[in-house]
Amino acid sequence: MSGIYFHIPFCHKKCNYCDFFTVSNSLNIDKLVNSEIKELIIRKNYLNDSIVDTIYFGGGTPSILDSKQLDKILKTVHSNFQINPKAEITLEANPEDLNEIYLESLLKSGINRLSIGVQSFNDDVLEFLNRGHKSKDIKKNIDAAKEIGFCNISVDLIFGIPGFSYDSYFDSLKSLVELNIQHISAYGLSIVENTLFYKWLKSKYVREIDEDEFVKQFEQTMDFLNICGFEQYEISNYCKKGFESMHNSNYWNNSPYLGIGPSAHSYNLDSRQWNVSNLIKYITLIDQSKGFFEKEYLTNNDKFNEYILTNIRTIRGINLEFIKKYFFIDIKKQLFALENDGYLKRINDQFILTRKGIVLSNFVIEKLYSDGN
Ligand code: SF4
Repeated sequence: MSGIYFHIPFCHKKCNYCDFFTVSNSLNIDKLVNSEIKELIIRKNYLNDSIVDTIYFGGGTPSILDSKQLDKILKTVHSNFQINPKAEITLEANPEDLNEIYLESLLKSGINRLSIGVQSFNDDVLEFLNRGHKSKDIKKNIDAAKEIGFCNISVDLIFGIPGFSYDSYFDSLKSLVELNIQHISAYGLSIVENTLFYKWLKSKYVREIDEDEFVKQFEQTMDFLNICGFEQYEISNYCKKGFESMHNSNYWNNSPYLGIGPSAHSYNLDSRQWNVSNLIKYITLIDQSKGFFEKEYLTNNDKFNEYILTNIRTIRGINLEFIKKYFFIDIKKQLFALENDGYLKRINDQFILTRKGIVLSNFVIEKLYSDGN
């Protein structure tokens, strides 16, 4: 199993909470598409002929690409890699981009899963976040997507937004479930550097949400989605039976992936590499076929930490015997202490986060991380 990720850094405008590498000037879209196609060809052996089960267009806002541009990329993928005929092919999209003509063209291009950045159903929240859509766009466009034939739709939602009540968040959660979609990613907002929210926080224009309120919204998300038939298969991801994201699972299963585009990361079990995070530099360096990425080889300790970070967040947790056998690291003491304190539950050699552990997962990860000494 392996995956290919395309980073499409263009956005119509910058959301107030976002610190991703994005570009608002879309003049270079065609140039980027051509460079990504060239990078695909340069790196066609990166996955060692393994079957590709997931292709993912992330961003940024990949729904800025038109269907011709997507077609061109996907045709190059098909002629240079072995693609599982049932591969999951996802496009991240903003609700305002999803009109009927565009949706039909996506389906024809082979996109079979949409991941839609809804974030909230409350227009005041959407304005506060500086999103480009209104709540009225959401249902209309998701209904259109279903009508046209998309039967694997994921939606992102944000909780813990400063200044907005628990009731307003819960209304969004209910509206989301009423859309009758297959997958939900619900993330707690964290205010990070290099965002407008961070500036507002420093100038005391906004205050971070109270911790109890944050936990209440998180717990309400888990309880409500569980009642509505969604399984929480990872801390922030919920799905109807059989609709786990293959793209996400690929990361958590330690499968290799090829990342194409500026700032995209790749992993091939032995090393990680990441492309330059500058659009013009990326296009120029790809043109010269050199110097467009940095690379690091992973030590046993790096691989262990990676295993902890990715697996502890999932419903299956981490396995004590596997850790001993593959990493030669004994974390029995830490695991039993975390079990005693109620952060982990144990099923034979498998350790899985409890509800308390899910809410405080960063603390658990910190306790299990190895510094290599
Ligand atoms: S659309 Fe997504 S990537 Fe673009 S600025 Fe907003 S949050 Fe960031």
